[in-house]
Amino acid sequence: MGFTVSENFQNTINGKQSPTAVTRHGINPATGEPNPEVPVSTQEDVDKAVAAGQEAFTTWSDVPFEERKKATLAFADEIEKHVAEFAKLLVQEQGKPLAFATGEVAMSVGALRQTAELASQITDEIIEDNEDRKLVIRHTPIGAAVGIVPWNFPVSLCLQKLGPAVLTGNTVIIKPSPFTPYCGLKLVELAQGFFPPGVVQALSGDDNLGPWLTAHPGIEKISFTGSSFTGKKVMESAAKTLKRVTLELGGKDAAIICKDVDVDATAAKIASMGFFNSGQICVAIKRVYVHESIYDKFLAAAVAFAKTLSVGPGTNEGVYMGPIQNAMQYEKVKGFISELSADQLALSNGDAKPFDEGKPGYFIKPTIIDRPADDSRIATEEPFGPILPLMTWSDEKDVIARANKTRMGLGASVWSDDLEQASRIGSKLQAGTVWINTHLEPDARVPFGGHKESGIGTEGGIPGLKGWLNVQTLNMRKSSKGGLF
Ligand code: NAD
Repeated sequence: MGFTVSENFQNTINGKQSPTAVTRHGINPATGEPNPEVPVSTQEDVDKAVAAGQEAFTTWSDVPFEERKKATLAFADEIEKHVAEFAKLLVQEQGKPLAFATGEVAMSVGALRQTAELASQITDEIIEDNEDRKLVIRHTPIGAAVGIVPWNFPVSLCLQKLGPAVLTGNTVIIKPSPFTPYCGLKLVELAQGFFPPGVVQALSGDDNLGPWLTAHPGIEKISFTGSSFTGKKVMESAAKTLKRVTLELGGKDAAIICKDVDVDATAAKIASMGFFNSGQICVAIKRVYVHESIYDKFLAAAVAFAKTLSVGPGTNEGVYMGPIQNAMQYEKVKGFISELSADQLALSNGDAKPFDEGKPGYFIKPTIIDRPADDSRIATEEPFGPILPLMTWSDEKDVIARANKTRMGLGASVWSDDLEQASRIGSKLQAGTVWINTHLEPDARVPFGGHKESGIGTEGGIPGLKGWLNVQTLNMRKSSKGGLF
């Protein structure tokens, strides 16, 4: 059968589409209707895929880099031909508006290309080379790997693992989220035209699958993106065989707004970024500290802007926020809202309840919270939904301490036209990425990762690529007669 993005969702094991006896399905979060059936992998499927990944590694790791790069670039070109179809499927499984789904697929293709170029910069580092000795730092592929993907960016986070894995000579099994398995399965199916069997595989399943993969002795490396809670379980499981892990986890990003900003423009940007993807982004702005001298004006501007953001099915024209991706997350976000007072809630959505009970689809309107206590749940935990708490500050040292008073450390931003002040504050923030007068902006050329409980290691940039490689020192005496001893 030819390749069709919209139907026939199967595992890919050793180059072949592999049906399973048992299937399940995701839910379209805008309608509540079932999406197509997808595989429920068994332990046997895992064993087969790991064996195929190990076997393929023996040859793929020896393929010259230029060939691996060529294959990856050809794969990127092929995805590009299917951007519209993948975007449509992404809306159906994840819920995000079509324009942003299209952006996610197109940007992922761009990131694959950038990463392929970056990877060519990783070469042997010669520390010494003379008549007597050659001393070299090398980077060698690790082995059969697993890429575990969450449900908020099923395309970009799948390719952000797949591309670096294969470019660096590893083989990879992609495990999409059970909530959003569709695009991941299809991307891997499409990849079969460009990579030998076993180099890129996909397994979809229920909650058993992740633990089976992380515990498997044949897996050498895990690249995981998801919650800090699950990340710790992954690390615990990986510790038993000392697998290499990269963990991209949760965040509680602070944005610090200084008193000199253009209030209307900044408030609009902060609200756009806080509510993008319906707040379901690891590096969404999740706490806003506004200088007290501009607080009232800023709050009013942010609320006015939030009211203009349209919420609805991702298939509708002009929608900024689609539904929350799944029922569990919808209930979690509603839980945060139920703890807030009616006047705090009425701020941004015009009514005391920012969601419609009884209608299909997991929709929640953008909600701005006025000065919750610093130790309240909304100010300290990650809601992963469209709720944005605003607090005030007056003392620079104090606001830095408050921004850092969290076990999270993914991103942070400072907003000011006084770049000296912004840089001074930014340099003291404990986060993997610090933005000045922006937030969220991704760039495949630089590392992305979390400090503290937001993660270990990075993806992106040369450091991210090196996370897919072992370091090896080659210490060569040029004669059997030479040397120290
Ligand atoms: P999650 O941790 O529930 O699930 C992530 C993935 O892990 C899914 O594929 C899931 O099936 C799998 N999984 C679940 N239990 C597992 C286990 N015991 N062993 C192995 N795999 C297991 O996360 P989610 O709800 O899908 O995603 C939301 C979270 O992800 C948020 O906390 C968000 O901040 C974080 N996130 C982080 C980044 C980042 O780059 N730092 C990016 C996106 C999302």
